[in-house]
Amino acid sequence: MILYNTLTRQKEELKPLEDGKVKIYTCGLTVYSQPHIGNWVSYIYWDVLVRALQAEGYDVERTQNITDVGHLTSDDDSGEDKLEKGAKREGVTAWQVADKYIKIANEEAEMLGLLKPTHLPRATAYIDQQITFVKDLESKGFTYVIPGDGVYFDTNKLKDYGKLARLDIEGLKPGARVPIDGKRNITDFAVWKFSHKGEKRDMEWESPWGTGFPGWHLECSVLARELLGDQIDIHTGGVDHIPVHHTNEIAQTESVTGKQFSQIWVHNNFLKVDGQKMAKSLGNIYTLQDILDKGYSLDAFKLLILSKHYQTEGNFTWDILEAAQNRLNNWQAAADLRYQLAGHPELVSGSGNSHNEILKQVQNDILTALSDDLDTPKAIALIDQYFSKGAPSEGTLATIRDLLGIDLLASEDISEEQKKFIADRQAAREAKDWAKSDELRDKLKEQGIEVRDTDNSPIWSRI
Ligand code: AMP
Ligand code: ZN
Repeated sequence: MILYNTLTRQKEELKPLEDGKVKIYTCGLTVYSQPHIGNWVSYIYWDVLVRALQAEGYDVERTQNITDVGHLTSDDDSGEDKLEKGAKREGVTAWQVADKYIKIANEEAEMLGLLKPTHLPRATAYIDQQITFVKDLESKGFTYVIPGDGVYFDTNKLKDYGKLARLDIEGLKPGARVPIDGKRNITDFAVWKFSHKGEKRDMEWESPWGTGFPGWHLECSVLARELLGDQIDIHTGGVDHIPVHHTNEIAQTESVTGKQFSQIWVHNNFLKVDGQKMAKSLGNIYTLQDILDKGYSLDAFKLLILSKHYQTEGNFTWDILEAAQNRLNNWQAAADLRYQLAGHPELVSGSGNSHNEILKQVQNDILTALSDDLDTPKAIALIDQYFSKGAPSEGTLATIRDLLGIDLLASEDISEEQKKFIADRQAAREAKDWAKSDELRDKLKEQGIEVRDTDNSPIWSRI
């Protein structure tokens, strides 16, 4: 597997720390509101990454966190905790908001057919470990307290701070606005925030420094270490995480362990809508439900995402989704041909004598594309090519399901009654009974089946 490593700014071959095993950490959702389609982009790409690694024979262990506390509305450690904000909006507690959106997020991940991470921990289930981690940072001299505000990480104490983002630390200083009084350096960040005096938060814990809650970056350092160890192979996330969140995860972890945190850092680019950033003010924040409500399938959405490389900025429009749905429908129609060509194995590519060779070739070609920095657009173009050559075999369809998470095998054969309608319609056509033939065609259409006449025999497909 070759991946573009943000840390080194070049494509690199994955060389796992442990033979045959790949440890991955994925930054998870902040569960304070309904996830939007942009949030799912990350998880769709990293799902394919895991599938490709498994196909290469690796045992993949992946941790994905659930941020249910500490993510403030601003990256500079000011603003409100998003969970508390969500609680106010919905008139419930922060705990209830978290529970509600964790359930929704899990349901949506399942609807998208994403593989479950090995570990899916909530940040709030690891508060003791986060406090211990801060104590460790403190004993190593990396922290200072800003009274009434929190415990901060002194980024000046780490000589390679900002290496991931190649931050120009000196350049950041002149005229920079330091939003928190008492911060020693503009890049310093909170590892523990105090509850405001006189305020009772839904989520707060005792700590040696005062009652409060963990800084947002802390959970990922702690959960990765607790569940995967001091060092991991791949860390994934959106490009927005490079300058602050991932930079600070590296700072914390490497200060505590003294070892390189992740070998490879991969980042997906952002999805825009109609070429614009998603924003409430533009009313262009869509959810998976919006896609379903308009009659499109979530596999079509996945195809829309995967037909662009993860490093390329994506664009969502209803027209592009329509095109993706058409492509998916063509794939499904090709897949459904296998029911109709049961008596003609010679027409199924990848069947008969050459079955194994063709299947191996298909698997090999798709996996080769994915192993080259997750080239999903190439994988999709290859599938288009195979399908244009004839009906795919079940083996090919299983490969597509296993590697891309798009299951064309799930659709069943038509019913015996529908088969009879098609045969009766054919007989009616031969008898030039057009009225009856049309009537049967309409009946099938009502049931979502379209019949097309070919030189040999009628072919059906799903509408
Ligand atoms: P959050 O729930 O805010 O922590 O975000 C969850 C994930 O969604 C993060 O990895 C973000 O990078 C990602 N994300 C948010 N908006 C977009 C977008 N428009 N396109 C792609 N990824 C996004
Ligand atoms: Zn993270």
